[in-house]
Amino acid sequence: EAEPALKNYAERLRMSNEKLQRFAYVASHDLHEPLRSIVSFSQLIDRRYRGKLDSDVDEFLGYIAGAGRRMQALILDLLQVSRTRWAPDRLCRPMSGGILADAIRSLKEPLAEAGGTMVVEAMPTVMVDAAQLEQVFTNLIGNAIKYRRPEVPLMITVSAGRHEDWWEFAIADSGIGIESEYYELIFEMFRRLHTQNEYEGTGIGLAIVKKIVERHGGRVWVESMPNRGSTFFFTMPAV
Ligand code: ADP
Repeated sequence: EAEPALKNYAERLRMSNEKLQRFAYVASHDLHEPLRSIVSFSQLIDRRYRGKLDSDVDEFLGYIAGAGRRMQALILDLLQVSRTRWAPDRLCRPMSGGILADAIRSLKEPLAEAGGTMVVEAMPTVMVDAAQLEQVFTNLIGNAIKYRRPEVPLMITVSAGRHEDWWEFAIADSGIGIESEYYELIFEMFRRLHTQNEYEGTGIGLAIVKKIVERHGGRVWVESMPNRGSTFFFTMPAV
């Protein structure tokens, strides 16, 4: 008799999980709009009246805009979490290596601002939900940029190698690195190794990467050397 009870329980869990994700989606969506006003109007006041107001007011405006931007980043992350609930099966299509490489290269802009360079080797054709795979690269390359070492030029290499029915992607950076005891923990939701003052973040990015990769039947892991750099690996089914 234990089995039906267990099934029932699993079904209830699944339903409440779905409700929670729907809530996260609605809440983050509804928060996004008013926040946009806060950020854009504080920027507008700053542009129009900078220097004409008390220096206190300039300073306070800066706090408002900064807090607004941090909140926007958090909300975008929450939207990501709630969007990835859909199974990709229906959306999985062959994505050509050329298109994939172009999508990765288009992430170069913040990298150039940080004075870094990125080498994207030949990319393979994979069976994926293209939007989700791009999210994986956005999050991993975004981290490579964020966790760079200020004293060395940032270098990112994106490559892929075939292993039987899988393509193994590698994103290597020359950043601050990660101690081996944290290799697994960093993929947990909200898990961060830094204080908010050192690096801004929510601890959501890698949890999303893991979720998307596993939805595609692949796996993700990291190998790293503190003060040398990190390489994030993930697998995707070959066509
Ligand atoms: P966030 O960057 O918002 O903190 P993530 O889930 O993307 O959240 O990453 C979790 C933690 O893993 C980060 O706080 C950071 O400590 C570590 N991390 C992720 N990517 C890198 C990287 N390329 N180099 C060094 N540390 C990293």
